[in-house]
Amino acid sequence: MPEYIDNYTHKGLRKKLVSYLRETVGIKDERVLEAINKVPRHWLLDSAYYNLAYEDKAVEILCKQTISQPSTVAKQTELLQLQERMTVLEIGTGSGYQTWILCAMKARVYTIERQKELYMQSSRFFEQMNIRCNNYLGDGYKGLPNIAPFDRIIVTCGAPYVPEELLKQLKIGGIMVIPVGEKEQRMLRFIRKSETEFTREDFGPCLFVPMLKKIQR
Ligand code: SAH
Repeated sequence: MPEYIDNYTHKGLRKKLVSYLRETVGIKDERVLEAINKVPRHWLLDSAYYNLAYEDKAVEILCKQTISQPSTVAKQTELLQLQERMTVLEIGTGSGYQTWILCAMKARVYTIERQKELYMQSSRFFEQMNIRCNNYLGDGYKGLPNIAPFDRIIVTCGAPYVPEELLKQLKIGGIMVIPVGEKEQRMLRFIRKSETEFTREDFGPCLFVPMLKKIQR
């Protein structure tokens, strides 16, 4: 079992990262910055990559997937306008970093991963760290119809199109943040105004691993 140490060097690097996110990237939501300051991102990486944990980089994890770069996580989370106790559906658990950030912000988190190996690894980690979330092995295109509707939905893989099923699982007034596009994506935010109406905002280009269909066992 890996040794989980969070020493003054790690804490110091995290403080620097937070200053960078505030001053250079322009993140304003203090609750997002507080969560990033609290969560030891290096624990989600292979120890060979610990020195990269607090740089603004995406890093490879299992199954050729990546842990999103800190500025992407911060921006996407800020766009969610998250409040305590809201229910959030995350598509693409991956390393579990984004999940942990949402939990640190006191949301009620449901997260889905399609790769069994990543699902197993993150499950173990959440249990060890006592991170209370509901995690599923499944296909994010389907969402969780039995638990819906959600206050918020965050998709952390690049969707080739906007999945109707996920829009359906939003509460009225709910917000979905999703990168949409084939090779390159645009960060889109949908707000559900009524049963049938949604507003759509575009927050510019971004790059994610693709959202794929079906579970990979
Ligand atoms: N939120 C993650 C980002 C991981 S990368 C983190 O903080 O580390 C995106 C993840 O989405 C990958 O693990 C990939 O396997 C997963 N994914 C891709 N398509 C999916 C789908 N249809 N349903 C669920 N997860 C999916």
